[in-house]
Amino acid sequence: MNAVELIAKKRDGMAHTRAELDWIAQAAATGQGMADYQLAAWLMAVVCRGMSLEETASLTLAMAASGERVNLQGLPKPWVDKHSTGGVGDKTTVVLLPMLAACGLTCIKMSGRGLGITGGTIDKLESIPGFRTDLGIEELKAQAKRIGLALTGQTPQLAPADGTLYALRDVTATIESIPLIASSILSKKIAGGAETIVIDVKWGYGAFMKSRERSQELADTLQKIGQIAGLKVEAMVSPMNHPLGIAVGNALEIKEAVKTLLGDGPKDFHDLCVQLAGHTLWACGEAETEAAGQARAEECLSDGTAAERAEAWFQAQGATIHLNEMDSLPKAKLVVPGYAKRSGTLECIDAGKVGQAVVDLGGGRKAKGESIDPSVGLEVIARPGDRLSAGQLIYRIHAQDRMTAEQVNERLQTAVLYQDS
Ligand code: URA
Repeated sequence: MNAVELIAKKRDGMAHTRAELDWIAQAAATGQGMADYQLAAWLMAVVCRGMSLEETASLTLAMAASGERVNLQGLPKPWVDKHSTGGVGDKTTVVLLPMLAACGLTCIKMSGRGLGITGGTIDKLESIPGFRTDLGIEELKAQAKRIGLALTGQTPQLAPADGTLYALRDVTATIESIPLIASSILSKKIAGGAETIVIDVKWGYGAFMKSRERSQELADTLQKIGQIAGLKVEAMVSPMNHPLGIAVGNALEIKEAVKTLLGDGPKDFHDLCVQLAGHTLWACGEAETEAAGQARAEECLSDGTAAERAEAWFQAQGATIHLNEMDSLPKAKLVVPGYAKRSGTLECIDAGKVGQAVVDLGGGRKAKGESIDPSVGLEVIARPGDRLSAGQLIYRIHAQDRMTAEQVNERLQTAVLYQDS
Protein backbone atom coordinates (compact mmCIF):
# COMPACT_ATOMS: atom_id res chain seq x y z
CA MET A 1 0.00 0.00 0.00
CA ASN A 2 0.98 3.59 -0.44
CA ALA A 3 0.75 6.21 2.31
CA VAL A 4 0.06 9.12 -0.04
CA GLU A 5 -2.81 7.27 -1.76
CA LEU A 6 -4.39 6.39 1.58
CA ILE A 7 -4.18 9.99 2.80
CA ALA A 8 -5.72 11.22 -0.48
CA LYS A 9 -8.49 8.61 -0.25
CA LYS A 10 -9.60 9.90 3.15
CA ARG A 11 -9.03 13.52 2.12
CA ASP A 12 -11.50 12.92 -0.72
CA GLY A 13 -14.09 11.51 1.68
CA MET A 14 -13.88 7.84 0.69
CA ALA A 15 -14.18 4.91 3.07
CA HIS A 16 -11.18 2.75 3.97
CA THR A 17 -11.23 -1.03 3.81
CA ARG A 18 -10.27 -3.15 6.84
CA ALA A 19 -7.03 -4.12 5.06
CA GLU A 20 -6.10 -0.44 4.63
CA LEU A 21 -6.80 0.31 8.26
CA ASP A 22 -4.76 -2.72 9.34
CA TRP A 23 -1.90 -1.37 7.25
CA ILE A 24 -2.15 2.13 8.75
CA ALA A 25 -2.29 0.73 12.31
CA GLN A 26 0.76 -1.45 11.62
CA ALA A 27 2.57 1.56 10.16
CA ALA A 28 1.78 3.56 13.30
CA ALA A 29 2.89 0.71 15.56
CA THR A 30 6.15 -0.10 13.77
CA GLY A 31 7.18 3.21 12.21
CA GLN A 32 7.41 1.41 8.82
CA GLY A 33 5.47 2.65 5.78
CA MET A 34 4.18 6.01 7.05
CA ALA A 35 6.27 8.82 8.51
CA ASP A 36 4.88 10.86 11.42
CA TYR A 37 3.97 13.73 9.08
CA GLN A 38 2.00 11.35 6.85
CA LEU A 39 0.16 9.88 9.83
CA ALA A 40 -0.61 13.42 10.99
CA ALA A 41 -1.99 14.34 7.54
CA TRP A 42 -4.14 11.20 7.55
CA LEU A 43 -5.43 12.01 11.05
CA MET A 44 -6.44 15.48 9.87
CA ALA A 45 -8.24 13.94 6.88
CA VAL A 46 -10.19 11.71 9.32
CA VAL A 47 -11.07 14.73 11.48
CA CYS A 48 -12.39 16.61 8.42
CA ARG A 49 -14.06 13.74 6.54
CA GLY A 50 -15.12 11.42 9.37
CA MET A 51 -15.54 7.66 9.30
CA SER A 52 -18.52 5.32 9.14
CA LEU A 53 -19.30 3.10 12.12
CA GLU A 54 -17.93 0.15 10.16
CA GLU A 55 -14.64 1.94 9.49
CA THR A 56 -14.39 3.07 13.12
CA ALA A 57 -14.91 -0.52 14.29
CA SER A 58 -12.26 -1.77 11.84
CA LEU A 59 -9.81 0.91 12.95
CA THR A 60 -10.42 0.00 16.61
CA LEU A 61 -9.78 -3.71 15.97
CA ALA A 62 -6.73 -2.93 13.83
CA MET A 63 -5.25 -0.69 16.55
CA ALA A 64 -5.96 -3.30 19.24
CA ALA A 65 -4.31 -5.98 17.07
CA SER A 66 -1.19 -3.83 16.61
CA GLY A 67 0.00 -5.33 19.91
CA GLU A 68 -0.92 -8.17 22.24
CA ARG A 69 -4.02 -8.67 24.36
CA VAL A 70 -3.78 -9.35 28.08
CA ASN A 71 -5.40 -12.69 28.89
CA LEU A 72 -6.87 -12.41 32.36
CA GLN A 73 -7.72 -16.11 32.76
CA GLY A 74 -6.86 -17.21 36.29
CA LEU A 75 -7.61 -13.79 37.84
CA PRO A 76 -10.72 -13.35 39.99
CA LYS A 77 -13.76 -12.01 38.10
CA PRO A 78 -15.29 -9.56 37.40
CA TRP A 79 -12.64 -7.91 35.20
CA VAL A 80 -13.42 -4.25 34.84
CA ASP A 81 -11.90 -1.13 33.38
CA LYS A 82 -12.84 2.52 33.40
CA HIS A 83 -11.97 5.40 31.08
CA SER A 84 -12.76 9.06 30.71
CA THR A 85 -12.95 10.73 27.31
CA GLY A 86 -10.82 13.51 28.76
CA GLY A 87 -11.50 16.38 31.10
CA VAL A 88 -9.76 19.12 33.07
CA GLY A 89 -8.88 18.20 36.66
CA ASP A 90 -10.12 14.68 35.96
CA LYS A 91 -8.04 12.54 38.29
CA THR A 92 -10.83 10.00 38.78
CA THR A 93 -8.80 6.90 37.86
CA VAL A 94 -6.41 7.44 40.76
CA VAL A 95 -9.30 7.15 43.23
CA LEU A 96 -11.67 4.83 41.39
CA LEU A 97 -9.26 1.98 40.69
CA PRO A 98 -8.34 1.38 44.35
CA MET A 99 -12.02 1.75 45.30
CA LEU A 100 -13.02 -0.97 42.84
CA ALA A 101 -10.15 -3.22 43.89
CA ALA A 102 -11.17 -2.73 47.53
CA CYS A 103 -14.67 -3.92 46.51
CA GLY A 104 -13.16 -7.16 45.16
CA LEU A 105 -13.02 -6.40 41.42
CA THR A 106 -9.97 -6.98 39.21
CA CYS A 107 -8.92 -3.83 37.32
CA ILE A 108 -6.22 -3.76 34.66
CA LYS A 109 -6.15 -0.38 33.03
CA MET A 110 -4.32 1.20 30.13
CA SER A 111 -4.18 4.99 30.36
CA GLY A 112 -2.75 7.79 28.25
CA ARG A 113 -0.67 10.92 28.69
CA GLY A 114 -2.08 14.43 28.47
CA LEU A 115 -4.13 15.04 25.34
CA GLY A 116 -4.63 18.64 24.22
CA ILE A 117 -6.00 20.69 27.09
CA THR A 118 -6.83 17.61 29.17
CA GLY A 119 -4.34 16.03 31.55
CA GLY A 120 -3.48 12.33 31.29
CA THR A 121 -3.37 9.74 34.06
CA ILE A 122 0.10 8.54 33.02
CA ASP A 123 1.60 12.04 33.36
CA LYS A 124 -0.17 12.52 36.69
CA LEU A 125 1.07 9.23 38.17
CA GLU A 126 4.60 9.87 36.91
CA SER A 127 4.77 12.90 39.21
CA ILE A 128 5.06 10.34 42.04
CA PRO A 129 8.80 9.61 42.38
CA GLY A 130 9.61 6.10 41.12
CA PHE A 131 6.10 5.29 39.82
CA ARG A 132 6.40 3.03 36.75
CA THR A 133 3.90 3.29 33.87
CA ASP A 134 5.43 0.77 31.46
CA LEU A 135 4.47 -2.59 32.93
CA GLY A 136 4.76 -5.70 30.76
CA ILE A 137 1.84 -8.11 30.40
CA GLU A 138 3.13 -10.63 32.95
CA GLU A 139 3.87 -7.87 35.46
CA LEU A 140 0.37 -6.45 35.02
CA LYS A 141 -1.24 -9.82 35.60
CA ALA A 142 0.91 -10.75 38.58
CA GLN A 143 0.23 -7.40 40.24
CA ALA A 144 -3.51 -7.53 39.57
CA LYS A 145 -3.59 -11.06 41.01
CA ARG A 146 -1.82 -9.85 44.16
CA ILE A 147 -3.62 -6.57 44.86
CA GLY A 148 -6.57 -6.40 42.42
CA LEU A 149 -5.29 -3.56 40.23
CA ALA A 150 -2.54 -2.59 37.82
CA LEU A 151 -2.12 0.27 35.36
CA THR A 152 0.14 0.91 32.40
CA GLY A 153 0.50 3.28 29.46
CA GLN A 154 0.62 2.18 25.83
CA THR A 155 3.80 0.14 25.37
CA PRO A 156 5.45 -1.57 22.35
CA GLN A 157 3.55 -4.67 23.60
CA LEU A 158 0.12 -3.11 24.24
CA ALA A 159 -1.79 -0.90 21.77
CA PRO A 160 1.40 0.53 20.21
CA ALA A 161 -0.57 2.04 17.31
CA ASP A 162 -2.53 4.15 19.79
CA GLY A 163 0.75 5.15 21.44
CA THR A 164 1.92 6.78 18.20
CA LEU A 165 -1.40 8.20 17.00
CA TYR A 166 -2.27 9.56 20.47
CA ALA A 167 1.04 11.43 20.75
CA LEU A 168 0.56 12.91 17.26
CA ARG A 169 -3.05 13.92 17.90
CA ASP A 170 -1.98 15.74 21.06
CA VAL A 171 0.07 18.24 19.06
CA THR A 172 -1.64 18.42 15.64
CA ALA A 173 -5.18 19.62 16.50
CA THR A 174 -6.57 16.21 15.55
CA ILE A 175 -8.20 15.15 18.81
CA GLU A 176 -11.81 16.22 18.34
CA SER A 177 -13.12 13.37 16.21
CA ILE A 178 -15.55 10.69 17.33
CA PRO A 179 -13.91 7.88 15.26
CA LEU A 180 -10.43 8.79 16.55
CA ILE A 181 -11.52 9.08 20.18
CA ALA A 182 -13.59 5.89 20.10
CA SER A 183 -10.86 3.82 18.42
CA SER A 184 -8.18 5.21 20.72
CA ILE A 185 -10.13 4.37 23.87
CA LEU A 186 -11.51 1.01 22.83
CA SER A 187 -8.29 -0.31 21.29
CA LYS A 188 -6.70 0.15 24.73
CA LYS A 189 -9.67 -1.46 26.43
CA ILE A 190 -9.57 -4.51 24.14
CA ALA A 191 -5.82 -4.84 24.70
CA GLY A 192 -6.29 -4.60 28.48
CA GLY A 193 -8.51 -7.70 28.56
CA ALA A 194 -11.38 -6.47 30.79
CA GLU A 195 -14.96 -7.57 30.10
CA THR A 196 -16.94 -4.64 31.56
CA ILE A 197 -15.85 -1.12 30.67
CA VAL A 198 -17.35 2.01 32.19
CA ILE A 199 -16.68 5.18 30.19
CA ASP A 200 -17.26 8.67 31.52
CA VAL A 201 -18.06 10.72 28.41
CA LYS A 202 -17.44 14.40 29.10
CA TRP A 203 -19.06 17.40 27.47
CA GLY A 204 -18.54 21.14 27.88
CA TYR A 205 -15.86 23.83 27.56
CA GLY A 206 -13.15 21.52 28.94
CA ALA A 207 -14.12 18.42 26.95
CA PHE A 208 -13.54 17.33 23.36
CA MET A 209 -17.31 17.19 22.84
CA LYS A 210 -18.66 20.68 23.45
CA SER A 211 -22.37 19.78 23.67
CA ARG A 212 -24.33 17.13 25.54
CA GLU A 213 -25.75 15.91 22.21
CA ARG A 214 -22.29 15.33 20.72
CA SER A 215 -21.15 13.51 23.85
CA GLN A 216 -24.24 11.28 23.62
CA GLU A 217 -23.26 10.54 20.01
CA LEU A 218 -19.78 9.55 21.22
CA ALA A 219 -21.31 7.44 24.01
CA ASP A 220 -23.53 5.63 21.48
CA THR A 221 -20.57 4.98 19.16
CA LEU A 222 -18.51 3.60 22.06
CA GLN A 223 -21.34 1.28 23.01
CA LYS A 224 -21.90 0.03 19.45
CA ILE A 225 -18.21 -0.62 18.84
CA GLY A 226 -17.94 -2.29 22.23
CA GLN A 227 -20.67 -4.67 21.14
CA ILE A 228 -18.85 -5.48 17.89
CA ALA A 229 -15.67 -6.14 19.89
CA GLY A 230 -17.47 -8.34 22.45
CA LEU A 231 -17.09 -5.91 25.36
CA LYS A 232 -19.81 -4.70 27.70
CA VAL A 233 -19.43 -0.93 27.44
CA GLU A 234 -21.38 1.28 29.82
CA ALA A 235 -21.10 4.94 28.85
CA MET A 236 -22.37 7.75 31.07
CA VAL A 237 -22.19 11.41 30.13
CA SER A 238 -21.11 14.09 32.60
CA PRO A 239 -20.51 17.86 32.40
CA MET A 240 -17.09 19.49 32.13
CA ASN A 241 -17.73 23.23 31.88
CA HIS A 242 -15.94 23.87 35.18
CA PRO A 243 -12.83 21.84 36.21
CA LEU A 244 -13.44 18.74 38.30
CA GLY A 245 -12.38 19.27 41.90
CA ILE A 246 -9.97 22.08 42.80
CA ALA A 247 -6.59 20.90 41.55
CA VAL A 248 -5.56 21.00 37.88
CA GLY A 249 -1.98 19.98 37.02
CA ASN A 250 -0.14 16.72 37.48
CA ALA A 251 1.31 16.66 41.01
CA LEU A 252 -1.48 18.89 42.38
CA GLU A 253 -4.06 16.40 41.10
CA ILE A 254 -2.28 13.42 42.65
CA LYS A 255 -2.32 15.23 46.00
CA GLU A 256 -6.03 15.92 45.64
CA ALA A 257 -6.77 12.32 44.62
CA VAL A 258 -4.94 11.04 47.70
CA LYS A 259 -6.81 13.52 49.92
CA THR A 260 -10.04 12.17 48.45
CA LEU A 261 -9.01 8.59 49.18
CA LEU A 262 -8.33 9.71 52.76
CA GLY A 263 -11.82 11.24 53.04
CA ASP A 264 -10.94 14.91 52.57
CA GLY A 265 -11.50 15.60 48.85
CA PRO A 266 -13.67 18.23 47.12
CA LYS A 267 -17.34 17.24 47.10
CA ASP A 268 -17.92 17.28 43.32
CA PHE A 269 -14.91 15.03 42.77
CA HIS A 270 -15.75 12.67 45.65
CA ASP A 271 -19.33 12.40 44.37
CA LEU A 272 -18.28 11.58 40.80
CA CYS A 273 -15.92 8.84 42.03
CA VAL A 274 -18.72 7.31 44.12
CA GLN A 275 -21.17 7.59 41.22
CA LEU A 276 -18.76 5.88 38.79
CA ALA A 277 -17.88 3.17 41.30
CA GLY A 278 -21.56 2.51 42.02
CA HIS A 279 -22.30 2.33 38.30
CA THR A 280 -19.38 -0.07 37.70
CA LEU A 281 -20.37 -2.37 40.59
CA TRP A 282 -23.91 -2.50 39.24
CA ALA A 283 -22.79 -2.94 35.59
CA CYS A 284 -20.68 -5.99 36.39
CA GLY A 285 -23.34 -7.57 38.58
CA GLU A 286 -21.70 -6.95 41.95
CA ALA A 287 -24.50 -4.67 43.20
CA GLU A 288 -28.23 -5.04 42.67
CA THR A 289 -28.76 -1.34 42.05
CA GLU A 290 -26.54 1.64 41.41
CA ALA A 291 -27.55 3.02 44.82
CA ALA A 292 -26.36 -0.20 46.50
CA GLY A 293 -23.10 0.07 44.53
CA GLN A 294 -22.66 3.66 45.67
CA ALA A 295 -23.23 2.71 49.31
CA ARG A 296 -20.47 0.10 49.00
CA ALA A 297 -18.21 2.63 47.32
CA GLU A 298 -18.74 5.13 50.17
CA GLU A 299 -17.96 2.39 52.67
CA CYS A 300 -14.58 1.51 51.13
CA LEU A 301 -13.60 5.17 51.34
CA SER A 302 -14.76 5.66 54.92
CA ASP A 303 -13.33 2.37 56.29
CA GLY A 304 -9.89 3.08 54.73
CA THR A 305 -9.77 -0.02 52.50
CA ALA A 306 -9.60 2.02 49.28
CA ALA A 307 -6.68 4.04 50.69
CA GLU A 308 -4.93 0.83 51.74
CA ARG A 309 -5.32 -0.48 48.21
CA ALA A 310 -3.91 2.75 46.78
CA GLU A 311 -0.88 2.46 49.07
CA ALA A 312 -0.31 -1.13 47.91
CA TRP A 313 -0.74 -0.02 44.28
CA PHE A 314 1.73 2.87 44.48
CA GLN A 315 4.33 0.65 46.18
CA ALA A 316 3.79 -2.20 43.70
CA GLN A 317 4.46 0.16 40.79
CA GLY A 318 7.67 1.47 42.32
CA ALA A 319 6.66 4.63 44.23
CA THR A 320 9.40 5.69 46.61
CA ILE A 321 7.04 7.71 48.81
CA HIS A 322 3.96 6.70 50.78
CA LEU A 323 0.38 7.96 50.73
CA ASN A 324 1.07 10.13 53.79
CA GLU A 325 4.11 11.77 52.16
CA MET A 326 2.39 13.57 49.27
CA ASP A 327 3.82 16.88 50.51
CA SER A 328 7.10 15.76 48.98
CA LEU A 329 5.67 15.76 45.43
CA PRO A 330 7.26 18.36 43.09
CA LYS A 331 6.29 21.95 43.92
CA ALA A 332 6.35 25.02 41.69
CA LYS A 333 8.53 27.99 42.76
CA LEU A 334 5.66 30.52 42.91
CA VAL A 335 2.03 30.52 43.93
CA VAL A 336 0.24 33.56 42.51
CA PRO A 337 -3.32 34.36 43.60
CA GLY A 338 -6.05 35.34 41.11
CA TYR A 339 -8.93 37.58 42.23
CA ALA A 340 -12.46 38.25 40.96
CA LYS A 341 -12.55 41.49 38.94
CA ARG A 342 -16.15 42.19 39.88
CA SER A 343 -18.98 40.90 42.00
CA GLY A 344 -21.62 38.52 40.69
CA THR A 345 -22.71 34.89 40.76
CA LEU A 346 -20.20 32.54 39.16
CA GLU A 347 -21.47 30.42 36.29
CA CYS A 348 -18.14 28.59 35.91
CA ILE A 349 -14.46 29.10 35.27
CA ASP A 350 -14.14 27.86 31.66
CA ALA A 351 -12.41 24.50 32.00
CA GLY A 352 -11.04 24.72 28.44
CA LYS A 353 -9.15 27.92 29.29
CA VAL A 354 -7.99 26.43 32.59
CA GLY A 355 -6.64 23.36 30.73
CA GLN A 356 -4.85 25.62 28.24
CA ALA A 357 -3.38 27.63 31.13
CA VAL A 358 -1.82 24.46 32.56
CA VAL A 359 -0.31 23.63 29.15
CA ASP A 360 1.06 27.21 28.96
CA LEU A 361 2.57 26.85 32.43
CA GLY A 362 4.48 23.78 31.16
CA GLY A 363 2.18 21.06 32.51
CA GLY A 364 1.21 19.78 29.01
CA ARG A 365 2.95 19.33 25.66
CA LYS A 366 3.17 21.60 22.62
CA ALA A 367 5.42 19.23 20.64
CA LYS A 368 5.55 15.43 20.45
CA GLY A 369 7.61 13.79 23.17
CA GLU A 370 8.27 17.07 25.02
CA SER A 371 8.94 16.73 28.73
CA ILE A 372 6.44 18.36 31.06
CA ASP A 373 6.71 20.05 34.43
CA PRO A 374 4.75 18.02 37.00
CA SER A 375 4.72 20.78 39.60
CA VAL A 376 2.80 23.53 37.79
CA GLY A 377 -0.96 24.01 37.63
CA LEU A 378 -3.91 25.71 39.23
CA GLU A 379 -6.12 25.49 42.25
CA VAL A 380 -9.55 26.63 41.13
CA ILE A 381 -11.18 27.70 44.36
CA ALA A 382 -14.43 29.41 43.33
CA ARG A 383 -17.27 26.99 42.51
CA PRO A 384 -20.23 27.40 40.13
CA GLY A 385 -23.06 29.21 41.91
CA ASP A 386 -20.73 31.04 44.36
CA ARG A 387 -21.67 34.65 45.02
CA LEU A 388 -18.37 36.47 44.41
CA SER A 389 -17.28 39.91 45.57
CA ALA A 390 -14.78 42.01 43.64
CA GLY A 391 -11.29 41.22 44.93
CA GLN A 392 -12.19 37.78 46.24
CA LEU A 393 -9.63 34.97 45.77
CA ILE A 394 -10.88 32.66 43.01
CA TYR A 395 -7.81 30.64 41.98
CA ARG A 396 -4.12 30.18 42.64
CA ILE A 397 -1.55 29.73 39.89
CA HIS A 398 1.42 27.42 40.58
CA ALA A 399 4.18 28.59 38.23
CA GLN A 400 7.95 28.52 37.84
CA ASP A 401 8.37 32.22 36.97
CA ARG A 402 6.47 35.45 37.54
CA MET A 403 6.20 36.51 33.91
CA THR A 404 4.47 33.28 32.83
CA ALA A 405 2.23 33.42 35.91
CA GLU A 406 1.17 36.97 35.07
CA GLN A 407 0.47 36.17 31.42
CA VAL A 408 -1.59 33.16 32.45
CA ASN A 409 -3.41 35.22 35.07
CA GLU A 410 -4.41 37.80 32.47
CA ARG A 411 -5.74 35.16 30.08
CA LEU A 412 -7.56 33.35 32.88
CA GLN A 413 -9.56 36.47 33.74
CA THR A 414 -11.49 35.87 30.49
CA ALA A 415 -12.30 32.36 31.72
CA VAL A 416 -14.35 33.66 34.66
CA LEU A 417 -17.98 33.54 33.54
CA TYR A 418 -20.74 35.15 35.57
CA GLN A 419 -24.40 34.16 35.38
CA ASP A 420 -25.34 37.67 34.27
CA SER A 421 -22.51 38.16 31.76
N1 URA B 1 -8.82 9.11 25.91
C1 URA B 1 -8.13 8.34 25.02
O1 URA B 1 -7.55 7.34 25.40
N2 URA B 1 -8.13 8.70 23.74
C2 URA B 1 -8.79 9.77 23.26
O2 URA B 1 -8.76 10.02 22.07
C3 URA B 1 -9.49 10.58 24.18
C4 URA B 1 -9.49 10.24 25.51
